[in-house]
Amino acid sequence: MQFIDLKRQYKALEPAINKAVQEAIESAHFIMGPEVRALEEKLAEYVGRKYCVTCANGTDALRLALAAYDIKKGDAVFVPTFTFYASAEVISLVGAVPVFVDVDPRTYNICPRSLREAIERVKKEEKLRPRAIIAVDLFGLPADYPAIEKLAIEYNLLLIEDGAQGFGGMIGEKRACSFGDIATTSFFPAKPLGCYGDGGAVFTDEEKVKDLLESLKVHGKGQDKYDNVRIGLNSRLDTMQAAILSVKLKAFREYEMKRRQEIAKLYDLLLGGTVDVPHIPEGYVSSYAQYSILLKDEVERDQLQKKLSECSVPSMIYYKKSMHQQTVYRNNSSAYWGFPNAETVSQRILSLPMHPYLTEDEVTYICKLIAEKD
Ligand SMILES: *Cc1c(COP(=O)(O)O)cnc(C)c1O
Repeated sequence: MQFIDLKRQYKALEPAINKAVQEAIESAHFIMGPEVRALEEKLAEYVGRKYCVTCANGTDALRLALAAYDIKKGDAVFVPTFTFYASAEVISLVGAVPVFVDVDPRTYNICPRSLREAIERVKKEEKLRPRAIIAVDLFGLPADYPAIEKLAIEYNLLLIEDGAQGFGGMIGEKRACSFGDIATTSFFPAKPLGCYGDGGAVFTDEEKVKDLLESLKVHGKGQDKYDNVRIGLNSRLDTMQAAILSVKLKAFREYEMKRRQEIAKLYDLLLGGTVDVPHIPEGYVSSYAQYSILLKDEVERDQLQKKLSECSVPSMIYYKKSMHQQTVYRNNSSAYWGFPNAETVSQRILSLPMHPYLTEDEVTYICKLIAEKD
């Protein structure tokens, strides 16, 4: 059994993917071919944003978003401590300082109450300028944007949605990557919508920001490609990846998202009462980038992982270390504030196989192993 079975997905989409790749090769328009713009339009339309600017990966997408708003040295950017490292790394990369915030114990997303405390603390210290919030849609569940957006307005902060895991999720009728001032996603193969290599995208409603992103991702180009007006990156999505993503986006919209919901529902049904299953607040939809359960404690979690592994069921621990526990951030001043929720969750959490091509028999088998708990 695979944790995320990309081979099964390929088998299901093989003729369409082969055709898309073949056409991209034959056109020999490998960089910024017409497939890239076509994909950007489809992505923007799907998430409900005016513009999509693709780039080389989800980390660059965040970095481009920060650069577009000139986040720099002396700025504080608030970020949940329980996330994938890139969410915090990019803040340091542009010279700003990540300020870590504890997460909600049930959704694992940034906790609005802790966020307010962190903002107040930074304001009081007067060492850094509070500038932005990066909210992460962890495991596919959109963060609490209604509450976070209010705080962003109250404190005049830029709100960035890190939707690397959130693509496909919703709050009401609004889709992930349409929240905040600017949103990003990743097409790393294991994400809900993945390509066959690295890829990413930024979403905005502002034409000016879109233009800036398009310059930043191509060496800070001006009107003319060889007139460089700012410092940028080389961060483009390959034509071939765009062609593959077009096929995959179609499957994602037509049935993969639905299958993810069905599989999660079956997990919920068979596991409920035995372990804590993912908490999806009323009106929210998760794309289940991960299906993560909580065990009683670290001992029980580690025992279960061992047992699953002995029965050839892969599982993963996302994340063993929060940002405030990373060696690189040992001198970060917020790293000592205390993050009880993040620390408890990282000891108890376990992510189970999750992808649209899992069979009911496989889910049933996994749940039986978990329920037995010898
Ligand atoms: C994967 C991920 C990223 C980075 O995406 P890459 O495409 O791997 O660079 C950023 N933030 C979160 C929350 C992620 O899960």
